Amino acid sequence: MLPYGRPSLDESDAAAVAAAVRSEWLTSGPTVRRFEAELGAYVGGAGCVSVSSGTAALHTAYAAAGLRPGDEVITTPLTFVATAATAALHGARVVFADVEDATGNLDPAATQAAVTARTRVVTAVDYAGHPAEYQQLRKVAADAGALLIDDAAHAIGSTYHGAPVGTLADLTTFSFFPTKNLTTGEGGAVTGTDPDLLDRVRRFASHGMVRDPDRLRHPDEGGWHQEVHSFGLNYRLSDVLCALGLSQLARLPHFKARRARIAARYRELLADVPGLRLPEQRPWVDPVWHLYPVRVLDGRRREVYDRMRAAGIGVQVNYLPVYRHPVFADLGYRPGMCPVAEAYYAEELSLPIYPDLTDADQDRVIDALQTILR
Ligand SMILES: *Cc1c(COP(=O)(O)O)cnc(C)c1O
Repeated sequence: MLPYGRPSLDESDAAAVAAAVRSEWLTSGPTVRRFEAELGAYVGGAGCVSVSSGTAALHTAYAAAGLRPGDEVITTPLTFVATAATAALHGARVVFADVEDATGNLDPAATQAAVTARTRVVTAVDYAGHPAEYQQLRKVAADAGALLIDDAAHAIGSTYHGAPVGTLADLTTFSFFPTKNLTTGEGGAVTGTDPDLLDRVRRFASHGMVRDPDRLRHPDEGGWHQEVHSFGLNYRLSDVLCALGLSQLARLPHFKARRARIAARYRELLADVPGLRLPEQRPWVDPVWHLYPVRVLDGRRREVYDRMRAAGIGVQVNYLPVYRHPVFADLGYRPGMCPVAEAYYAEELSLPIYPDLTDADQDRVIDALQTILR
């Protein structure tokens, strides 16, 4: 089965991991610091904290935002469940605002309409790698007195009005799961430019531990002394996995170019297929296409999904609107609350896109779709 996504790993990645295994460090050593420095520089001079997954990154970002029971987080339903689940785990109420039909991204007007006195965080997702509308979202969040988080699990390497994803919101979270644009096996990161926020990120991801002598409550305890000032978790990423991350980061420009070429070929070769709508790209964004989300019209998505799979082409559907998961339904969320996201979901089909996808394999995808829809 041709997958819809797969990591690109080569001998340089293997050598980087082998070197890390042979070094003195397995976890929290110099390679973690180098990966964080290079990733922060890559996304436009942000501070960066590496963590053990994209889910850990979100959970940590919400902790740094000071999210508490009773607070509200406005987010998109067209995302992986972790965007919302990690806010709910802090006791927050998740408020789903609808998406834009063109991009599937959080709609700034719908976000504005969902603001209440309890809104503490707005979380956008750069669906498929296409950045959300940060100029408007920043204003909505600022007017609400809320923090803006960018769940950029799909979008490392993308830019918006020339600025890289990673500095567009107060905090940005990344995932390095194998299907994403860059992988460390499991892994993630949080980036931002506010040192206080980043300090809270780093603390939550490592037990809430304080080591800085200037901040210790009991500085005379002895050289071994460290203190916990707030509860946290162990969400650290290891030196071994950061070595893979560094190696992958060096190849990210190549991954971006490959994904752009594959997207351009789909755009050209699927342009005349009836009953198909191709993803739109706003002129001010330069996305790294993590997904290639087409829309299958005329109620045929299920049929096309089944027939593509039967033809050995591993298409995917991204995503069931999050509030339709039973865990949210049990909390009283009802289907239909975000009609644009529902319509998007009903038609969406993610076609294979990854750096090592060959033209011949892509032609198979295109031929199969044409045969079914012709
Ligand atoms: C993959 C993903 C996550 C979770 O990342 P993990 O590394 O799998 O924990 C969160 N949000 C979105 C939008 C994702 O695609």
